Amino acid sequence: MEATQRLRMTTQRQVILDELCKLKSHPTAGELCQIVRRRLPRISLGTVYRNLEILSRVGVIQKLDVAGLEMRFDGTVDNHYHLRCLECGRVFDLDMPPMDGLERTASQHSGFEVMGHRLEFVGRCPDCRRHQVAMA
Ligand SMILES: [Zn+2]
Ligand SMILES: [Zn+2]
Repeated sequence: MEATQRLRMTTQRQVILDELCKLKSHPTAGELCQIVRRRLPRISLGTVYRNLEILSRVGVIQKLDVAGLEMRFDGTVDNHYHLRCLECGRVFDLDMPPMDGLERTASQHSGFEVMGHRLEFVGRCPDCRRHQVAMA
C-alpha cells in the first residue's frame, strides 16, 4: 500500500476508506455517506465525495464512472469485471479472471501500448429476473 503512505490519512479519510473496503455493493457517495455517519455523525456529503475523489486519484480505490449514471466507488482495485443490472442499478463483481489476451488483441488492432482494461457487463440480476418471473 505505497499509495496510502504518500497520502496524508486524516481520520475522516481513513474511516471512508475502511467502510468502503468492507462493502461489496459499489456504493454511491451518498450511500457511503449514510454508512460513514454511523461513526462520524457530522460528516457532510461534500467531504465524503471530496475524499473519494482523492482516494481514487492516488489509486487506493476505484471509481466506476459511466456517463449518465451516478458514480459508484469500489474498494477493490485489482482488475476485476463488473456486472451492472439495468433494472435495479446495482453493480456486482464478476468472479472470473481477467483476460490478458484481450489487451494483446487490442494492442495489435490499434498500435496502442495497452496498460490495462476495464470491462462491465450489463443485463438483469438474478433478483430482478426472479421478480419478473413472479409477475408474469
Ligand atoms: Zn437487478
Ligand atoms: Zn468491484
